[in-house]
Amino acid sequence: MHEYGITESLLRIVEDRAREAGVTRVLTIRIVVGALTGFAPDCIEFYYEAMSKNSIAEGAALEFEERPVMLRCRACADVFEPGDRVWACPSCGSSEVNIEGGRELYIKEMEVS
Ligand SMILES: [Zn+2]
Repeated sequence: MHEYGITESLLRIVEDRAREAGVTRVLTIRIVVGALTGFAPDCIEFYYEAMSKNSIAEGAALEFEERPVMLRCRACADVFEPGDRVWACPSCGSSEVNIEGGRELYIKEMEVS
């Protein structure tokens, strides 16, 4: 359900940018979604369709780029993609890690006409 609010924000950004650029139609919106955000692209699409009705961005295709969780080991600085449950460094076994990626959520590109 928390996709509702995020879709609203995304649509607002798209509309603002489209208006600023003086475009008449938004064709495609590319959205980067990190695995740690917990946002399901399907849900965003569902809400988007309903919310974008009668807007400049109605009917735009959403393309999602899903980004995996990436961790950096604090002991050896190795950057790795963890397994489902184990967040330990594959090089040195340390579980002291920083999150490097997976929290992203942003609009990467828009195609307009
Ligand atoms: Zn390490």
